Amino acid sequence: MAECLFCKIVNREVQSGIIYEDQNVIAFNDINPQAPVHILVIPKKHIPTLLDIKDEDRNLLFALQKVITDIARQKNLTDGFRVVINCGPNAGQAIYHLHFHLLGGRKMEWPPG
Ligand code: AMP
Ligand code: ZN
Repeated sequence: MAECLFCKIVNREVQSGIIYEDQNVIAFNDINPQAPVHILVIPKKHIPTLLDIKDEDRNLLFALQKVITDIARQKNLTDGFRVVINCGPNAGQAIYHLHFHLLGGRKMEWPPG
């Protein structure tokens, strides 16, 4: 997807603070952090939203989950953390390339805004 910001991050056309990368997944620091730890974990494959996940993405979803929990452990988020997927306009999704927000390092409120 030529115009997708996160595809450009994957392809190194846009610089970001990459903290993890493998064949299918990349993780980088959010440019506008909402917590002391705010990392975006994304598939390299362009999937616009949570609604666009297909059966064939089963292994990819597991890999994403594994990266998220590995990073949470590495960052010592032992008091807890939050994982957020915004899906669609009402949720405030701004970038239409599937991404998991990993937020931690402070107490979270509930309900979310
Ligand atoms: P969402 O509202 O769920 O689509 O979240 C998009 C996230 O991408 C926001 O938290 C932004 O701060 C973040 N973001 C936007 N541009 C960049 C960038 N160039 N590098 C890192 N994070 C970004
Ligand atoms: Zn993309």
